Amino acid sequence: MRELKIRERIQIEAGGEAVVERELGRGGQGIVYQVRYRGREYALKWYFISRIRNPEAFRANLRKNIEDGAPEDGKQFIWPLFLTKQKKKGAFGYLMELAPAGYDSFTDIYNGYKWEKPRVKGQPAVKRKVRFASLDIMLTAAINIVRAFRALHLSGKSYQDLNDGGFFINTRTGDVLVCDCDNVAADGDNFGIGGMPGFMAPEVVRGAAKPNVLTDRYSLAVVLFKLFFRGDPLEGSKVLKCVVMTEENDLIHYGKDPVFIYDPANASNRPVNGVHDNVIRLWQIYPDFIRQAFTMSFTYGIREPNARIIEKNWIRMLIQLKLDIVHCGCGKTAFSSAFEEQGDHILICRNCGSTIYTLGINDYELPLNPGARLYRCLTEKNNDDFQTVTGTVIENRLKKGLFGIKNQSGKTWKALFPDRSVRDVAPGKAAPVWKGLQIDFGEDLKGEILL
Ligand SMILES: [Zn+2]
Repeated sequence: MRELKIRERIQIEAGGEAVVERELGRGGQGIVYQVRYRGREYALKWYFISRIRNPEAFRANLRKNIEDGAPEDGKQFIWPLFLTKQKKKGAFGYLMELAPAGYDSFTDIYNGYKWEKPRVKGQPAVKRKVRFASLDIMLTAAINIVRAFRALHLSGKSYQDLNDGGFFINTRTGDVLVCDCDNVAADGDNFGIGGMPGFMAPEVVRGAAKPNVLTDRYSLAVVLFKLFFRGDPLEGSKVLKCVVMTEENDLIHYGKDPVFIYDPANASNRPVNGVHDNVIRLWQIYPDFIRQAFTMSFTYGIREPNARIIEKNWIRMLIQLKLDIVHCGCGKTAFSSAFEEQGDHILICRNCGSTIYTLGINDYELPLNPGARLYRCLTEKNNDDFQTVTGTVIENRLKKGLFGIKNQSGKTWKALFPDRSVRDVAPGKAAPVWKGLQIDFGEDLKGEILL
């Protein structure tokens, strides 16, 4: 294909022309340019047409996606917006929104840094750290990734090429944008994309299946694993022993004989000290239910596509994981596993000795440290809004050491005391954090301070 020139005019199917302004980047499938169209700036992806197996079918699918629009409100996707007309030899591309400022690619987040282009030509590039503002924000991003894929799958489509280049994340807010949506297709259809090594489901690597919703779910588990543990779930000692990573080795380790590094029944591929230090360190600090979810995903789930964890269940677990973070008043912030357990439900801070009670709501359990938050998904039925705060654990200003849960839900709760007396907790008021106290959030939804 011929590359586009700066100031070149490209005709758009919907009418008018886009003017090429500059190149933004290039990858295996094509080049992305910044263009101006109808008085606004867009990104134009221009394909290496010879690398597309069936350009006409690919183009028809792209047109269909443009007509359908992005899933849900589209906020989480950089979706194809306009198709260009075809040039000589059939070359074409599509327009999408530019990635907004303040977002970093998942790849940069995974690496922990990125190289920024120098402001002045000739100056060296600057290495900048890329990290989440907090553990909470990282989990918000993880939940947002899963929600985007749930929305896509619910619309009857699959992404097919889930990999670390497919997301932009705001590391201060946890907002996620899914990009490279041009391979999205109705579930069951495939227009030639296989995926990226390391992210592809083993049956796709082996050539036994085409990408679909179930292979997306495998890739999603890989993305989450990499986000949490900063390593590859299948790269351990077995893979390291192969000095050269040839295609044949990829086929063995990621297709024919994939072994999870923490497979409880197969120790042949454990992470190696000095090489996989991130995974070794981070695997220890996550709660059991998260380790079990990944173990299931990369053992039984590796062979049984139908057994892979569905998005809804990931979201439940990730909300539970977010709630599991304890911010002790002394400054210690960690998963509850880093605190000493007293009985089943009480935690003791190893740093300052504070006692932290837990509140059970439905299947969720959250530590009631000062500043801990309740979200709408906890205090309202059938709700998965994990960002709107409906309550906060506060300390009584006059009586230090006395804590309460402040009602910020806008609805009146009822506090049921252990002596069976009942008191209204109006918005702005607080229910005390007492052993055995129950809070009735309405609609039969109750929380109980566990012993
Ligand atoms: Zn503490």
